[in-house]
Amino acid sequence: MDAHGEFTAARELLRSVFGFAEFRGRQEEVIRAVLRGRDALVLMPTGGGKSLCYQLPAMLRPGTGVVISPLIALMQDQVSALRQHGVAAAFLNSSVPPAEQQRIIAALRRGELDLLYLAPERLLREESGALALLRQIPVALIAIDEAHCVSQWGHDFRPEYLGLDVLKDHFPDTPRVALTATADEATRKEIVDRLKLDGAERFISGFDRPNIRYTVRMKGGPGADLMAFLRQREGQAGIVYCLSRRKVEATAEKLAQAGFDAHPYHAGLSAAERRRCQTHFQRADGVIVVATIAFGMGIDKPDVRFVAHCDLPKSVEAYYQETGRAGRDGEPAEAWMSYGLQDVVRLRRMVDESDADEEHKRIQRARLNALVAWCEITRCRRAALLAYFGEDHEGACGNCDICLTPPKTFDGTVAAQKFLSCAVRARQRFGAAHLIDVLRGKETDKVLRHRHQNLSTFGIGGDLSARQWHAVARQVVALGFARVDAERHGALVLMPEARPLLRGEQAVELREEARAAKPRREPGPRPPARDIGAEDEPLWDALRQCRAALADAAGVPPYVIFHDSTLSVRQRQPDAVRHAFLSGAPWRNGQVFRMTGSMD
Ligand code: ADP
Ligand code: ZN
Repeated sequence: MDAHGEFTAARELLRSVFGFAEFRGRQEEVIRAVLRGRDALVLMPTGGGKSLCYQLPAMLRPGTGVVISPLIALMQDQVSALRQHGVAAAFLNSSVPPAEQQRIIAALRRGELDLLYLAPERLLREESGALALLRQIPVALIAIDEAHCVSQWGHDFRPEYLGLDVLKDHFPDTPRVALTATADEATRKEIVDRLKLDGAERFISGFDRPNIRYTVRMKGGPGADLMAFLRQREGQAGIVYCLSRRKVEATAEKLAQAGFDAHPYHAGLSAAERRRCQTHFQRADGVIVVATIAFGMGIDKPDVRFVAHCDLPKSVEAYYQETGRAGRDGEPAEAWMSYGLQDVVRLRRMVDESDADEEHKRIQRARLNALVAWCEITRCRRAALLAYFGEDHEGACGNCDICLTPPKTFDGTVAAQKFLSCAVRARQRFGAAHLIDVLRGKETDKVLRHRHQNLSTFGIGGDLSARQWHAVARQVVALGFARVDAERHGALVLMPEARPLLRGEQAVELREEARAAKPRREPGPRPPARDIGAEDEPLWDALRQCRAALADAAGVPPYVIFHDSTLSVRQRQPDAVRHAFLSGAPWRNGQVFRMTGSMD
């Protein structure tokens, strides 16, 4: 078959096997290139549909497609989804019993597998014989998933990935496809260099996730309470990220006591406990996982409705990737974060105390600073987020906290000057909380111990509340006038940029929130509307119950049967669906199966 004929076949498989009418974004271009035998670098946001870019060509090209994937959970999900669709797929990893491994290898040798998933260490370890085995069979293509794991500067670095450059030498004529959802220009370059992909075609897709609403709340301020946020979203599935294991445990317990189906997840749990949590999250409806960042990569659950950060993530990249786990089905979803200066102090300390080299630390600090600045931004968050990835967006997205409730700004020059001079008078050795006590004229033990009641800045800040001063402190740091010194327990240290401000040569705009006399009552963002009228609620519930029953019977997560988006599209199949479901016991009369085309 020529390339054109193959492509027609790809379109046919998209329909008959996966049940999709159209390619999405740049899938089509990638598939065409790979079918022509080209290498490809594919950058698509999470949920963009990367998997099909290699699954379809693997099914069409002679031989087996080999997929390198970093996590066992990720492989299992992909393979079980593929098998549901009738695709001959398997994975080899330590969790597969030896007899089963032998069966898989035999099937591979007989040319019966379309796709084989492997962890990089498995592929590269001499004793596993995997590389030798693959060299004896026709390999359709090699896909390297989560390719940013090869980046030593990145947050998901996996040393095993560095060995993958040998693939070019062993399989010079086999197309290789590297895929990732996070990659700034530097990471992209690193992927190309380290994986020897210099001849690869590049497919860089937009990073915008228009269905995700971005909201950042300041700790202690209005709308920053996690419990209140969750109460408005009962029954929705979501992930809550916290920085430490201890906080994960405490938060999960608090939520469970409050009646949520919430579970902790962190690296300190046993593998079995983690697997149980993950399976429950994927299979049941409305589960909340409270996790450190150890949870996430490889979670293929399209109907995650929110990702909440109780602490600041480490970088814009990490934030984007973590929040990208929400709303992969394209339905409204939320990325919510509450943050405070204390988070910055802790993360700075983690960077400083890590055993990375100086260069590495410098990059990590810069990444953290970029995120802090983003948190304090006063224009469209989406536009700023995309700008970070080098993408233009006209702003006014209408779906971020700033666009929805624009913050008022005011001339904060004097407040910033007072705060910074206070830090200088205190010899740049104290953190924000103490400086604020000094400014507000509080004679605390600590103030008296250091005789700070004698400082010229003592009591000059009575016009603002402590909370308002905290906001000033945060913004002064976010704007780069001062930094928190983690080694000195979060002491505020002035940056050279503060000089013109202190000399009165520069003015600064701060967010109004910092000055308002009382916390304004802000309406929290509404739970995303599911575009279902009240009259359709019974149908919606019936559909979901049916889906749960089907999923249970098939031992797969509900979304494998139907996405929420499929369920809620009444415009497309209104009467067929209504009729089928309201006429009772629909899942036994076969209509469901025909409608998805994916169950058998
Ligand atoms: P990624 O790996 O890029 O995060 P996936 O490959 O897991 O994304 O795809 C995300 C979701 O989009 C999946 O549920 C998948 O079934 C769906 N999807 C992929 N391609 C299409 C398409 N052409 N049309 C409709 N849905 C698609
Ligand atoms: Zn916006």
